[in-house]
Amino acid sequence: MTHNITLIPGDGVGPEISLATRRVLDATGVGINWEIAYAGAGAREKLGELLPQATLKSIRKNKVAIKGPVTTPVGSGFRSVNVALRKELDLYACLRPCKIYPGAPTRFSDVDIIVVRENTEDLYSGIEFEAGKAETAKLRKLVAEATGNKVSEDSAVSLKVISESASRRIVKFAFEYARANNRKKVTAVHKANIMKFSDGLFLATAREVAKEYNDIEFEDRIVDNLCMQLVRRPQQFDLLVLPNLYGDLISDLCAGLVGGLGLAPGANLGDEIAVFEATHGSAPKYKGQNKVNPMSMMLSGVMMLKYIGEKKAADKLEKAIAAVIAKGENVTYDMKATGSVGTSQVAEAVIEKL
Ligand code: NAD
Repeated sequence: MTHNITLIPGDGVGPEISLATRRVLDATGVGINWEIAYAGAGAREKLGELLPQATLKSIRKNKVAIKGPVTTPVGSGFRSVNVALRKELDLYACLRPCKIYPGAPTRFSDVDIIVVRENTEDLYSGIEFEAGKAETAKLRKLVAEATGNKVSEDSAVSLKVISESASRRIVKFAFEYARANNRKKVTAVHKANIMKFSDGLFLATAREVAKEYNDIEFEDRIVDNLCMQLVRRPQQFDLLVLPNLYGDLISDLCAGLVGGLGLAPGANLGDEIAVFEATHGSAPKYKGQNKVNPMSMMLSGVMMLKYIGEKKAADKLEKAIAAVIAKGENVTYDMKATGSVGTSQVAEAVIEKL
């Protein structure tokens, strides 16, 4: 069977790691008909649009995509393509497994944590009020009238939106994933002691959903405490479910626990569509240098193979990547200080192990 899959090379180091990933996926023998589509700064240069309709159309048609990271300049009017893509396709769950492969550069052992991040709301709602603008003055007035609180005139405001429906959906996703993948414990992460209504709603909803899953242990952690516990004793955690922003931060932290961003795969999942991508960004300073680690995108490819029902090929590819890590010979600069190799050599070493 041939699978039609959309491949978005992305910006910065994206095209290099995408090529390396495509090579190893093709080498598994799974029939894939690649449909190349563009998004990000490169798409704007080529096609005049950050997220071209043709790209959305291709993903909607194929239902599965794998993408390289795209660049979002900080603080400019440039809206994040990733946020737009997730919203547009309702990819509400971000799944990021963080697992130690023997030989990976880490201080820990036995870490195997699944991070489930809500992908559509929270401080990523995109509802913002710029300092000094008329609409911000209106908001300040409304806040003063409704709550008696004063927002100072020089403030900018970003709305943290947490809904019961999105919280329920992501927590259910987390429990269903736990059940299907033999995970024993779900930890809901929040700051409900301070944000009593937004995070409070997330926590209350999580507690309610947990009652439907008596076979899986449930607990909650305040996010600052979680950070401390993760770096002290990460082995105590199994699956974390978090609102969007904490999910973003904690998945980078967990990537650090297992050997860095070069080893952190991910998937953005909706009910019908899935877009696989590494946790890391486009690392623009390394663009075109054949330098960065393609394994996070390759491991995202492993997740993709499982998703499309190619479990045997997925296991074979994961084993080949693990063998390259364990040998430690053909790995990139982030995995060893001297004698490292480049992106394309990693692909060749993985193919050799397949
Ligand atoms: P980044 O993840 O691109 O890079 C941070 C640092 O991590 C790099 O300088 C590099 O030292 C290291 N790193 C990242 N990926 C690596 C890899 N594969 N191998 C080895 N080392 C690696 O983060 P940033 O510099 O904050 O962001 C750059 C751009 O990427 C920004 O425009 C940001 O918005 C965007 N971004 C995109 C995505 C995405 O497309 N999913 C995710 C995060 C950030």
